[in-house]
Amino acid sequence: STPVTYAAGLAAAAQRGIVVKGGASLEALGNVKKVVLDKTGTLTEGKFMVLHLDHINDTDYTRQEMLELLALMEGPSSHPLSATLVKAAKNEGIKVPETAKVEDHSILKGEGVTALVDGVRTFVGNRRLFERIGMYDHLGDAYKYRAEEWSSEGGTVGFVGVDGVGIIGSFCMSDSIRPEARKTVQALRGRGIEVLMLTGDSEGAAFSVADQVGIPRNLVHSQLLPEDKLHFISSIKHPGSSRSFLSGSPKVMFCGDGVNDGPAISVADIGVSMGEGAALAMEMSDITLMDSNLDKLTYIIKLGRKVMITIR
Ligand code: ADP
Ligand code: MG
Repeated sequence: STPVTYAAGLAAAAQRGIVVKGGASLEALGNVKKVVLDKTGTLTEGKFMVLHLDHINDTDYTRQEMLELLALMEGPSSHPLSATLVKAAKNEGIKVPETAKVEDHSILKGEGVTALVDGVRTFVGNRRLFERIGMYDHLGDAYKYRAEEWSSEGGTVGFVGVDGVGIIGSFCMSDSIRPEARKTVQALRGRGIEVLMLTGDSEGAAFSVADQVGIPRNLVHSQLLPEDKLHFISSIKHPGSSRSFLSGSPKVMFCGDGVNDGPAISVADIGVSMGEGAALAMEMSDITLMDSNLDKLTYIIKLGRKVMITIR
C-alpha cells in the first residue's frame, strides 16, 4: 500500500472523527500486536434493559420499599446501568422519597454503590460485592440458583441489600452488542492481531459477549477491578516497551469507555477511549473514537501501517 506522510495520516484520521492526541504516534499503531477491549460500553452499547427485577419477600421490606432504595442508590450514579434501574423503579409508580436522608453515598469501583439511607447502610451491586460484605452467603438457595441461572445466560446480575437485614432484591439486565463489534474482532484477528476482553462483570456475562463477537474464552478476563485491568495491561506489554516515538517493539492497545478504564488506558502503549464514554477515559487516552464506532480501530491500525517514518 502507498505510504502516507504523518500529517496526511493525522488529517485522514481527524476527518473520520478519530482524535489523535499530541504525543501519540501513528506508526506505533502499525506495530499493534494485541488489542484489549473492555466489555460494557466498548464491545456493548452500555444501554441496558431490565429483564428481571425481583423482590425477595422473606424480608421485612416490601417490594415498594426495595424499589425506593434502588432508585435512591442509583440516582446519583453515572454507571451505564444506573439510569435504567431508576427508570424501572419509577415505572412501577415509585416516587423517589424526598424525605429520605441519603448520606455518605459512594461508588464502589467494579462492584456497585453504597450509602446510608436514614442511617441504615444500604448496598446495590454485583455478587462480588455481596460476597465481600458477607451477605451473599445468607441468600436463600432458590434465589441464589435463579441469580446464577441469569448469570450463566449472559445477564448482568445485581442485588439490593441492607445491613442487618440482608439481600432484599435482585435484578438481571441485558446490554446490546455494538453491531460492528464482531466484524471488528474478525478484521483484527485476520491481520494477526490477538484480541482480548477485560471486564468487571461476571464470567457468564463476559463469555456470552465473547462468544457473540468471536473472542476465544481463554482470552477473556472477568470480575476485574480497575487496578486489575491496569496490572493485566502492564503484564502483557513488551518488556521495556515505552511510548517512544521510534520504538519498533510490539504494541498493546487498550480500548475502554468508563472511569474504571482510565488506569488501563493510560498504561497501554496506545490507550483508546470511546467518545460516548466518561470524560476521564478521554483525558487519559492517546486516541478518542468520537462516534464510538469500533470499525475505526481497524482503520487506524491500517493507517499506522502505512504512515512513513520520517526522522527529523
Ligand atoms: P466493565 O468493566 O464491564 O465496563 P464496570 O467495571 O463498570 O464494568 O462494572 C463492573 C460491574 O460492577 C458491573 O457489571 C456491575 O455488575 C457492577 N456495578 C458497577 N456499578 C454498579 C452500580 N451503580 N449498580 C449496580 N452494579 C454496579
Ligand atoms: Mg466499560
